[in-house]
Amino acid sequence: MEVYVLRLGHRIGRDQRISTHVALVARAFGAKGIYFDRFDKNLFESVSKVVKTWGGDFFIEATEWKKMLQNFQGLRVQLTMYGIPLPEKIEEIRRAKKILVVVGSEKVPKEVYELCDLNISIGLQPHSEISALAIFLDKLLDLVFKIEFNDAKLKIIPCEKGKKVLKLR
Ligand code: SAM
Repeated sequence: MEVYVLRLGHRIGRDQRISTHVALVARAFGAKGIYFDRFDKNLFESVSKVVKTWGGDFFIEATEWKKMLQNFQGLRVQLTMYGIPLPEKIEEIRRAKKILVVVGSEKVPKEVYELCDLNISIGLQPHSEISALAIFLDKLLDLVFKIEFNDAKLKIIPCEKGKKVLKLR
């Protein structure tokens, strides 16, 4: 199964930190790449730097969100607290070969609810795009403790206390 993320409503400057974390969660939990609805040089560079250091071929790209949603060949799933609880739909989602997961920022345009095949909630309370995405990807892919990235420069060696990092190249 291939999973991609579409992050809507990124505001340059203001959302740098939260959008970086959305992208890093997407990568660490097994998505192939992330699309943003606008280009942000600092954000794109900081995520690309993480990929160079920690490995893998995760991509970050800007896109026209509406065209992307209209043309995506696969299952389009928006994460929203107003949607159907994930456990009710997870089997249907698991049958898809290709998934685009949409997460918002402040306010998501109404059209998104129509353009997506499924609107899915991770609990019926407001929280955040970072937590919603992490839980969704974990329940769906279950990769966070298994994933290994090629060509990493650094690798963490788990330890009880302190930090152990192996320099690979
Ligand atoms: N008032 C906003 C709305 O219209 O949905 C909530 C914005 S929230 C800060 C940002 C994003 O976090 C949402 O667009 C959604 O993707 C995600 N999110 C927050 N709580 C969620 C929940 N309980 N279930 C699924 N996604 C959630």
